[in-house]
Amino acid sequence: MSRVQAARRAFLSRATLLAAFTWLPTRLIAASPPRIVAVRAWPAEEYTRVTLEASAALEHEAFLLENPLRLVIDLKGVVVQTILRALAEHIAPDDPYIAAVRVGQFTPETTRIVFDLKQAVVPQIFLLDPIDPYQYRLVIDLYPEKPQDPVARLLAELDKRQRTESDTPVLSETPPRRPAETQANRATNPRKPQPKPPEQDAPYVIVLDPGHGGEDPGAIGRHGTREKDVVLAVARRAKKRFDDDPKTRAVLTRSGDYFIALGERVNRARRAQADLFVSIHADAFVRPDVAGSSVYALSDRGASSTAAKWLAQKENQSDLIGGVQLAARSDHVAATLLDLSITATRTDSLRLAQAVLAELARVSPPHRPEVETANFAVLRNPDVPSVLVELAFISNPTEERRLKSADYQEQLAEAIYRGVKRYLERHAPRPRALMLAAKSRDPAS
Ligand SMILES: [Zn+2]
Repeated sequence: MSRVQAARRAFLSRATLLAAFTWLPTRLIAASPPRIVAVRAWPAEEYTRVTLEASAALEHEAFLLENPLRLVIDLKGVVVQTILRALAEHIAPDDPYIAAVRVGQFTPETTRIVFDLKQAVVPQIFLLDPIDPYQYRLVIDLYPEKPQDPVARLLAELDKRQRTESDTPVLSETPPRRPAETQANRATNPRKPQPKPPEQDAPYVIVLDPGHGGEDPGAIGRHGTREKDVVLAVARRAKKRFDDDPKTRAVLTRSGDYFIALGERVNRARRAQADLFVSIHADAFVRPDVAGSSVYALSDRGASSTAAKWLAQKENQSDLIGGVQLAARSDHVAATLLDLSITATRTDSLRLAQAVLAELARVSPPHRPEVETANFAVLRNPDVPSVLVELAFISNPTEERRLKSADYQEQLAEAIYRGVKRYLERHAPRPRALMLAAKSRDPAS
């Protein structure tokens, strides 16, 4: 449903409500306004999200106040309900942005929510249409004025590493690799000459992308295991494995239980100057006996099988379930898809997928023996070899149990690490940031 349709529907429902006023006894009218069915909060360093789920689209007005900092949201035509009063209980004491929340009946037709803030925020407030399993949602995202940047976090990590390694004489001559901008800045600063990094020692940056998160749980097993939780656990273990290897460094697209839009996952890989991108998921199917891992690469010309096509459609729904303001979505990635470099990247993606699948097959028999292709939004990166791993079928009770076990998670993480290493040893070019740094040092380019 478009925004215009949504607005029209809201208008019509108001008109209906008005008509009801003319003849219904007063005590029945209270049942007509939007009913709040759930409230949720997803605190994270990057941004905190509060979701109000209702039986109808919530008409709202929002404004910021200073001294002290507050965000006020008025819900029109909403009577304060117990579930809404309980909103305060959903706010974690260590929420980075929200200190407290108060809910009250401001006027007979307006419920007012006041968020007392810990720091200045840039709110993004938007409505989402119903999508299984949710009804209408009003999403309140609180971003810091200075956005958190996972790429900046990577740099901080590398800096920390440099400080640790400076105690070791051999390694002290090897400054950690930095993105090209920083290298270029240093090259143009005459007071701070930097030695050229020995290239064979620069790590490859592997971006690990745990699927789903926050409002979007992903697939759910029969015993309640959520895809978003197990894929994050495996991604964290894999990150540790890559970080322990001096030749690789891993960056996670999300480090907690919050939602990141598909396009933003791809953008993060680009900003981190990723050499490789591995999206991590767990599959689900109606038949509980279906089992095994699969690895996918991008195809924009149709899927390699009906199942692959179906899966890509399901995974691409993540933005609708997880909640993204449509206007905020960038078509940048779709536009660059036509870039010629994609042909080379696709070959590398397939090689990477084969290497990872071969290692996963050593953990347990794969779902299919070959790499499959489909049009996954998260793999639309024109110049970073990208694959999507379905670790196992969470809908299979045996695999659901395994996915929760630390030992099995470790085996899967190790398989991803070995697969990536196998690919890097056979096919990889020099790490990307080094190529960019070399280009920026060359005055002719
Ligand atoms: Zn998934």
